[in-house]
Amino acid sequence: MKTNVKTLIAGNWKMYKTLAQAEKLADRLADRLADKLPADREVLLLPPFTALGAVAFSLKDANRFLLGAQNFYPAQEGAFTGEIAPFMLQDLGCTHALAGHSERRHVLGETDGLISRKVAFGLQAGLHMILCIGETLDQRKQGKVEHVLKGQLLLGLTEAKDAAVAPETLSIAYEPVWAIGTGEVAKPSDILSAHAVIRKTLEEMFLDCGGKIRILYGGSVKPDNAAAILCLDNVNGVLVGGASLQDDSFAAIAAAV
Ligand code: PEP
Repeated sequence: MKTNVKTLIAGNWKMYKTLAQAEKLADRLADRLADKLPADREVLLLPPFTALGAVAFSLKDANRFLLGAQNFYPAQEGAFTGEIAPFMLQDLGCTHALAGHSERRHVLGETDGLISRKVAFGLQAGLHMILCIGETLDQRKQGKVEHVLKGQLLLGLTEAKDAAVAPETLSIAYEPVWAIGTGEVAKPSDILSAHAVIRKTLEEMFLDCGGKIRILYGGSVKPDNAAAILCLDNVNGVLVGGASLQDDSFAAIAAAV
């Protein structure tokens, strides 16, 4: 199933890029993709917080480029030292944000409860939220993929479900933990079956609207595998880490057909 919304090519820059490097990368991407981005696609850049303002400036005239944050704290404002609120991100031009990335779950210890609060708060604040889910290698070996994906979806969307979400403002990224940053991409059959489980669960949760929620694949997407992934059923975009840090590789992924 392909949704009517545009295919999303998202680049997660993680904790990389100084200000000057970020500006250069955004400028080069806008240049490279000015006339090469297929009409049905949008590009989302997710720089570190420190580079959001500069990247917003670089992208101000770039067509179909969007800006997003890798994280935020789910509160309007307050005594939360070191944290950033959604409205501060929107002030800088962000329209999108991630929640539940595996590095935040597994390195920083974020729980499904906090992730659920972030998704609901971000949506209510007017951000397009991308909820990341995915199984570890052990869970896959134990045959628990479907169980893990359903569980992370149900828990991650618990609070959003009650908040009358417009499906266009929510995306899910399927990112098997064992494929992130390892160079080991999931097989097309694994992506197809995981995305089918996600689609079915979304339809159970949101009825007809579940069919309109974008499902992205993430995990070692590179220029040489992007086209084959993007044409799969229920794949409505990709979330790219390592290969989004260079303009030539990310532009090649965004333009891959
Ligand atoms: C990610 O960080 O979301 C990711 C998928 O990384 P990589 O493309 O490097 O595997």
